[in-house]
Amino acid sequence: MIDLQAYVQQHFNLTLSDAQAAAFDVYLHELLDWNTRVNLTAITDPQQVIVRHFLDSLSVASVITFEAGDKLVDVGTGAGFPGLALAIAFPQINVTLLEATAKKLIFCQHIVDLLKLRNVRTVHARAEEAGQMPQHRAQYDVVTARAVARLPILLEYTLPLAKVNGLVVALKGATAQTEVDDSAAALAALGGQVQPIVHVPLPGVDDPHYLVTTIKVKSTPGRYPRSAGKPVKEPIGAPPAPPKPKA
Ligand code: SAM
Repeated sequence: MIDLQAYVQQHFNLTLSDAQAAAFDVYLHELLDWNTRVNLTAITDPQQVIVRHFLDSLSVASVITFEAGDKLVDVGTGAGFPGLALAIAFPQINVTLLEATAKKLIFCQHIVDLLKLRNVRTVHARAEEAGQMPQHRAQYDVVTARAVARLPILLEYTLPLAKVNGLVVALKGATAQTEVDDSAAALAALGGQVQPIVHVPLPGVDDPHYLVTTIKVKSTPGRYPRSAGKPVKEPIGAPPAPPKPKA
């Protein structure tokens, strides 16, 4: 069994107290228990949960230095990855878990209540809606997202939520570089600048994991994000869909 505390100390320079390690243990067992009733994760082996959910989430600490009071929003958090894991590891930051599917947020809120996490709130909304709400737009120092959408779409979900000079950290797999290459138009339109991609090896995992960090260098024009579903249907910079043939 991998030792979470020892691993993150050695690889991410992150110190977890015994109480924080115990909190991750509770999270692990609740996730696997709830997963028998609610579809939360395809991963059911405890060791794999530690590696592919907890370590992958905490790897964000290798590219970000959090300051006390920082505001982080995790877009499409699902069962809380990476946002809830980061909230446990960094009690000094304020974490918003944003998710469009209510039942997943109910699980996240259960963990928040059980662990008495005072630095987390859950928000049931689509990113396209939250990005146009004054209480969320341009309010966050850090925006995270994993497994939500390809980068050109994800940038439209995330950059409007970041403050100018804030960061968007996308946890990506093998297609990271291709997605960055496809994002030039979205970055220009939304006011982002991508940093060099960071490779994060995970123990015993062959498929590559990358952190793609984007700095918001100027404010995002008010027309972004567009209405719900539009970023997926018409990603910024993608060629327009050909007209439907007449019947
Ligand atoms: N981030 C979690 C993880 O890595 O385990 C969940 C990944 S899951 C594949 C994608 C999640 O993003 C789903 O829970 C889905 O409901 C949510 N999602 C997709 N599009 C969204 C949007 N536009 N706004 C908010 N949530 C969204």
